[in-house]
Amino acid sequence: MTYDPNNIFAKILRGEIPSHRVYEDDKVLAFLDIMPRATGHTLVIPKAPSRNLLDVAPEDLDAVMAVAQRIARAQLGVFEAEGITVTQHNEHAGGQEVFHLHVHVIPRRLGVELRP
Ligand code: IMP
Repeated sequence: MTYDPNNIFAKILRGEIPSHRVYEDDKVLAFLDIMPRATGHTLVIPKAPSRNLLDVAPEDLDAVMAVAQRIARAQLGVFEAEGITVTQHNEHAGGQEVFHLHVHVIPRRLGVELRP
């Protein structure tokens, strides 16, 4: 389980492909998911290379989760969300498709199912 520096989120971090950035600091970037499961679906990633939860440094995980909380709180107002779903996948068997750690932060409303 190694880190591939050519994964798509590494390219987003380097500015090699575009993204809709919603938050950035020295440790963390948050941007909109290209195939949103709900309007406002946001991905939060560490800037440091990390494949997933299994190898991330605790301080980078702390920074990512602090930003996920900020994004979740903001989604309540911006998207009039009534709840927030947070998901995170690890390795192929865990549903991971992009191998740079990311946390999904998804605004939810009662009775509205997530898009597939
Ligand atoms: P995973 O299954 O947790 O690895 O989810 C990967 C997520 O990355 C999916 O929700 C994709 O829609 C999203 N994604 C893939 N490529 C891009 C991109 O270029 N920009 C933004 N989101 C992307």
